Amino acid sequence: MKTRQCFSCGAREGMTHFEGRGETISVKGMERRIDDLAGWECRKCGEVEWDADTDSAERYTQAGDDLVIAARQMIGNEMKRIRRKLHLTQKETVQLLSGGGHNAFSRYERGEVLPPKALMLLMRLLDRYPHLLADAKALGEGADLRNAFKYTEHKEHETLTVS
Ligand SMILES: [Zn+2]
Repeated sequence: MKTRQCFSCGAREGMTHFEGRGETISVKGMERRIDDLAGWECRKCGEVEWDADTDSAERYTQAGDDLVIAARQMIGNEMKRIRRKLHLTQKETVQLLSGGGHNAFSRYERGEVLPPKALMLLMRLLDRYPHLLADAKALGEGADLRNAFKYTEHKEHETLTVS
């Protein structure tokens, strides 16, 4: 058996060589299988180094990237489905639940950005208990103080000069 010292934990003869291995990686319940991987694995610490003269590292990384994109799209589709179920526009959803830019929600729905966890949780709660939407609207009134202050400019000078 081919062995060599582990570059990570330093175990002598810790790493053994493998070929033709299949691995399955999963992200948020979705899976991708990558076959025919070759490299070294440490029996002590579990560190893996893919063989540089194969495309193992490239294919493993690509599968992970694909999964992350697929997961974002899956969540985006879920956000869209719930929003439509609640009869809200993207703009109304942002104003009611998350704040932020007016096109933030369309970016979530297209899977470009992962929504904040709190927003995902709120959407899933409203999916399960849609009757709470009315409460959310009532409780949301005045909850955002960022634009709550109104300024009135007093034109005293004008009134003084008019006579
Ligand atoms: Zn090791």
